[in-house]
Amino acid sequence: MASRASAGWGYLLAATLIAVAAGFSGDNVVLAGALLVLMALAVLLRGPAEPAAARGPDDAEALPAADEEPLGPIVDTMRAALGALDLPIFVFGPDAIVLFQNKAAEKLFGPLAAGLHISARWRSPGILDMIRETLATGEPNQIEHSERLPSETVYVVRTAPLDLSALPMVKRKLYVMSLRDISELRRLDRMRSDFVANASHELRTPLASLRGFIETMQGPARNDEKAREKFLGIMLEQATRMSRLVDDLLSLSRLELKAHLAPDQTVDLVPLIGHVRDSLAPLAAELDITLTVHLPEGKVEVVGDRDELVQVFENLIENACKYGQEGKTVDVTVLNEPGKPVEVRVRDNGPGIPSEHVPRLTERFYRVSVADSRSKKGTGLGLAIVKHILTRHRARLLVRSEIGKGTEFTVRF
Ligand code: ADP
Repeated sequence: MASRASAGWGYLLAATLIAVAAGFSGDNVVLAGALLVLMALAVLLRGPAEPAAARGPDDAEALPAADEEPLGPIVDTMRAALGALDLPIFVFGPDAIVLFQNKAAEKLFGPLAAGLHISARWRSPGILDMIRETLATGEPNQIEHSERLPSETVYVVRTAPLDLSALPMVKRKLYVMSLRDISELRRLDRMRSDFVANASHELRTPLASLRGFIETMQGPARNDEKAREKFLGIMLEQATRMSRLVDDLLSLSRLELKAHLAPDQTVDLVPLIGHVRDSLAPLAAELDITLTVHLPEGKVEVVGDRDELVQVFENLIENACKYGQEGKTVDVTVLNEPGKPVEVRVRDNGPGIPSEHVPRLTERFYRVSVADSRSKKGTGLGLAIVKHILTRHRARLLVRSEIGKGTEFTVRF
């Protein structure tokens, strides 16, 4: 079928031939007239110049003109339907030339002119091979693809042919490529497996030590009364460490179960902090620390779960006593100033926390020094529990620390 474009090129070719012939014959007046008419016809029939963007990087074939195939209304309908989805989608023809991308794709990856080859947007060999395979076999395919910029993102990229059997007037095959962001799923998977690995490792250490002592007592130290006494002491310590870990793990899992349920009781922080101070007085005395509580006049009420808030302040004050021991004093201040959020500050005058550790303190099993934490009966889960409880309470944990001067943990309701 002769198109308007090829007729235009034909007239242009004829005009050029006439010009050449005129040059030879010298009969310029008649031939110049014919030349002009043919050139004008050529320009009219060629129509507007094809935009540069309408050619793919591989100089792939341009889309057929709209009148060759009635795709216009179909593309418009698809564009409207896919525009409502939040999944980025590209629609392309059998030559991998993009017809359009939906709004979600434009928002994520920027504008892309119709008529470009898909490789103008996606250069990854994995994606291009997959598209090639779908075009060749007509079968859907999917791969995982990672983008480094602007941040590490993992997509499941899928290509599939569109089933247009209900539209017999459409002869051309059409294909879609969608990208599903699975970065969050991957992150959660990694967190879960890290957590299981960490928890098992933490439990395995005291367990190995217990086994070692049992074997020694069954064998070489069978009749050594003195060694047995000593080993039993260490075994009790290890078993206690294991139960502390299990208790903290259970606390965390219970908190996770009700993470989406906001607390609905009203709690007065004044008696609550007083209770925590009394329960930690023996530890403070043992560590030779002066624990001082500064409370405002009257009640300081917040919406919360009493037992969980007791756990928050116990963990923070216990940490201040243990890790800030050399500062000798720990101050707990409850602030309830008009027009400002209620705050509880726990301050020690210990060695402080290097700033690179501060953002990670609430991660499970994160410790500035594992040996230090173990020697102080830590599990590495205390601040993770605090963070979970505060998230459920819509409260924030702020940490300010200065090396050599001390640390202040603030709970802001
Ligand atoms: P742990 O059971 O080890 O105490 P936490 O989650 O309660 O675990 O605390 C994590 C780490 O944060 C601790 O191991 C310690 O290194 C550091 N840390 C917490 N509170 C303080 C503090 N007041 N001063 C210095 N370091 C602290």
